Amino acid sequence: MRSHYCGLLRSADIDQTVTLCGWVDRRRDHGGVIFLDLRDREGIVQVVFDPDTEEHFATADRVRSEYVLKVTGRVRARGEGTVNPNMATGDIEVLGKEVEVLNSAETPPFQLDEHTAVGEEVRLRYRYMDLRRPEMQQRLLLRSRVTDAVRRFLHNEGFLDIETPILTRATPEGARDYLVPSRTHPGQFFALPQSPQLFKQLLMVSGFDRYYQIAKCFRDEDLRADRQPEFTQIDIETAFLDEDAIMGITERMIRELFQDVLDVELPEFPHMSWAEAMERFGSDKPDLRIPLELVSIDDLMQRVDFKVFRGPADDPRGRVAALRVPGGSSISRKEIDDYTKYVSNYGARGLAWIKVNDLAAGVEGLQSPILKFMPEDVVAEMMTRLEAADGDIIFFGADRASVVNESLGALRLKVGTDQGMVAEGWAPLWVVDFPMFEDDGEGGWTPLHHPFTAPACDLETLSRTPGEALSRAYDMVLNGTELGGGSVRIHNLATQEAVFDILGIDREEAREKFGFLLDALKYGAPPHGGLAFGLDRLVMLMSGAQSIRDVIAFPKTQTAACVMTEAPGTVNAAQLRDLHIRLREQEKKEA
Ligand code: ASP
Repeated sequence: MRSHYCGLLRSADIDQTVTLCGWVDRRRDHGGVIFLDLRDREGIVQVVFDPDTEEHFATADRVRSEYVLKVTGRVRARGEGTVNPNMATGDIEVLGKEVEVLNSAETPPFQLDEHTAVGEEVRLRYRYMDLRRPEMQQRLLLRSRVTDAVRRFLHNEGFLDIETPILTRATPEGARDYLVPSRTHPGQFFALPQSPQLFKQLLMVSGFDRYYQIAKCFRDEDLRADRQPEFTQIDIETAFLDEDAIMGITERMIRELFQDVLDVELPEFPHMSWAEAMERFGSDKPDLRIPLELVSIDDLMQRVDFKVFRGPADDPRGRVAALRVPGGSSISRKEIDDYTKYVSNYGARGLAWIKVNDLAAGVEGLQSPILKFMPEDVVAEMMTRLEAADGDIIFFGADRASVVNESLGALRLKVGTDQGMVAEGWAPLWVVDFPMFEDDGEGGWTPLHHPFTAPACDLETLSRTPGEALSRAYDMVLNGTELGGGSVRIHNLATQEAVFDILGIDREEAREKFGFLLDALKYGAPPHGGLAFGLDRLVMLMSGAQSIRDVIAFPKTQTAACVMTEAPGTVNAAQLRDLHIRLREQEKKEA
């Protein structure tokens, strides 16, 4: 039907006769001349109708917003003074000759350029309208270019695109499973995959050697923060490559992707151990654009009587750390109160601070409610260690190490952002040398990644000191967001069994849940490893969107529902009977 996209017309097309198809973005009547802004996925162009094309002028006169039109006309330069430098097509316009209404439209539920006024719920209910907004079109276009570039890169590197099942058994990635009842196996359920983890490992056992998939993953989590119950991973697995090689290839993939799609050359990716990231940034995904760091002062605080600091300083699981903010002494009491509230969300029971007014004046030059509890020599040593300078504010965290890391780590981001300290550009890194396990709070261990991650130590050491063992896992972090993570996997049975033992999964349970994997490890499993990138996060960062919902065509709401299709929904009694399911309410009614 069309000869050109509206949004792609340029001066080079002047004098061409073109046929366009698109939606009426806006219609204006300027004293006998009608201006239609016609929109398609590539953008908007201005079409002008003069009264001399009588019949078509009349048609143009009656169209309204969001009508679908086919327009034929001639491209011409805009008159002096009407050039619009804010529009990609702003140098030209189309003089309309013919217009055909392909379809009319009722008054839209919201004006596309007033989407912010209606709230996200309405946008999601009429998502097909919301997606017509140029901004959303750009984002989905970008997303498509990203997957296209990724596929090309991986294809060129010899990766095979292999699909894995959606109806499957539980894959543990630390979330709750979405379950699907089986009709043919009464009382039994499929789980939707939290990731293709086990299948991709099995593909390595089968010899496919380099696998990838742009895979849907399902995790039934409470949707705090910016999560989706179904999301997309760029899922990768390789055999016969070690962690350096795997990080090498995937780093190159991300580098070329940014080059291709954004024309951005990413800087070096430093490698940082997990321990260093926690020590310096209180986070395993540090945002290196912010030039603030945590500094431990446990040893100094062991010399004070102030219980709030002394307790955690003496406790091997505690931490006392300081966060110095250069120039922060102008932060007001009110703002400090707000920050105190902010860190309380992360479990901190307070937020101590010192303002450095005049360092040369010693303690006299400092301002703080906690100074009276600290000997002068300790304060002096602390100022030296923190490299304090006049005009700084220093915040303190003292608690269990995990609370200090989380709260000061979050405060670092908040203050850094509030104070305008976030550097322009991109700050990638690899975080490596993760612990194998973390304390589950009940005397046991949970895996920091998943239970198929290979330990960096031998089996004997692993079993003897699981809390100290490091894994062969790695995460790629960009601007404080975890873009992807993976590991070298366990490929022999004894190690896998030892890890299950440490996790408190007994042999019977392991057989029941992962028998197929344990068997596969017996039949010649090659050394293998891989990783997965979160596609939604990646596109969000690349497009500058604020939420992953803005880069997913049909996302779920915060309560894991789709307001457009009204999913999830109820089903009828016959369907339930087929599935051998009886609802509790039904039972109550019958009782
Ligand atoms: N399956 C892991 C995840 O979903 C990624 C990996 O280890 O490859 O996080």
